Amino acid sequence: MPSAFALLGILIVSCLMSVAVLGSLVRTTAPGVSRWCVGYGLLAVSSCWILVGGMGAGAITIIGVSFTTLAAVLVLVQGTRQFFGLQPVRRDECIALIVVCAALLYFTCISPNVDARGVLISIGLIYGRIVLGVLALRHAPREGSRYACRLIAAAAWLGALVYAARIVVILLGKAPTLSFLQPSPWNVALLGLAIVSLPCISTGMVMLAHDQILRRMEKLATIDELTGALTRRAFMEKAHARLVELRERGALMSIAVLDIDKFKSVNDSFGHAVGDRLLAHVSAVVSAHLRPGDLFGRLGGEEFAVLFARAGQHDAVAMTNALRIAVERSAADGVSCTLSAGVGGVMYADTLESAMVRADAALYVAKAAGRNRVIVSSQDDESASPRIAESR
Ligand code: GH3
Ligand code: MG
Ligand code: MG
Repeated sequence: MPSAFALLGILIVSCLMSVAVLGSLVRTTAPGVSRWCVGYGLLAVSSCWILVGGMGAGAITIIGVSFTTLAAVLVLVQGTRQFFGLQPVRRDECIALIVVCAALLYFTCISPNVDARGVLISIGLIYGRIVLGVLALRHAPREGSRYACRLIAAAAWLGALVYAARIVVILLGKAPTLSFLQPSPWNVALLGLAIVSLPCISTGMVMLAHDQILRRMEKLATIDELTGALTRRAFMEKAHARLVELRERGALMSIAVLDIDKFKSVNDSFGHAVGDRLLAHVSAVVSAHLRPGDLFGRLGGEEFAVLFARAGQHDAVAMTNALRIAVERSAADGVSCTLSAGVGGVMYADTLESAMVRADAALYVAKAAGRNRVIVSSQDDESASPRIAESR
């Protein structure tokens, strides 16, 4: 039978490795990771304490190890709640921890009873592991880390099962009352379980944190923080893909380039913060008027683009004009603004860029013609001097 000393040594090293890996993610500010790190640190402390306490562990060691282990599991549960955006600390759990520790003190110093202590600690660990698994499965993100959540739940519940079996054996009076370091099948089973399940749980936690960081980065790269519109890069990427897809289906599409009029004077008169809120407001108004399947991106500054899917030039002009009117009639912080726009149908020979150049040229004409208007560019002219049809 493997020595309990050796198994404890492996457990300590594995907990410290989990601390190191989770610790490397703390600065990414993924929620809950700090608590996970502390939880594994506490498990390493309690394992070391058992080793230092030796075979004939005294009352302080027994109480200390039990409290540290239960607190570690509670902190891991709290970290998981925090990770999924829930309130991490629950008062009833903290009170239960204190009550269990008081009972452990009673069964250690006043009326020593190894079996009662074993049952109490097992109940605490079963509770922690069940909650951990339920949290992981209930709040598993739709895409991405479902595998990580299942891994956490499977490892946590496997442990809960073994602790439940331990309670049954204790209640049947079949558990040997040995020190944790003495080689008994139960000690080996419990240590082996911890050695297998704890790294599985921490691996799942690391996968969850990585997945969240990845999704956060993807969002930063594709969604403009201020306006919620697609970033220029994401708009171009998605518009290219949509162009190919719509062409394959033989569907029409059009592009509009929108620019807020005299926006510099908004900043100059009301301040940059009001300008920011007006930008976000205009973006929200435009987004609200678009159809599913249309693409909306911020090209830069106060300039936006819309790809109208399944819309010829005529329809696109009407829709852009509706956007212009909606923006003109709305206000943010009591400040309103107007839009100028250039619209062009995407022809068969067009690339996305060439269609945008024509729409941009039409926008330039809209500005020159007095602003707050939609200008449609000539379909057969890529030279930025379009035949103009005006819509106001
Ligand atoms: P025009 O009608 O010719 O488009 O005039 P304009 O003032 O809108 O255009 P101009 O290019 O002269 O100025 C654009 C202004 O938009 C200048 C810049 O400070 C402001 N701007 C660009 N990005 C932001 C932003 O993110 N927040 C705020 N508040 N202002 C911005
Ligand atoms: Mg402008
Ligand atoms: Mg501009």
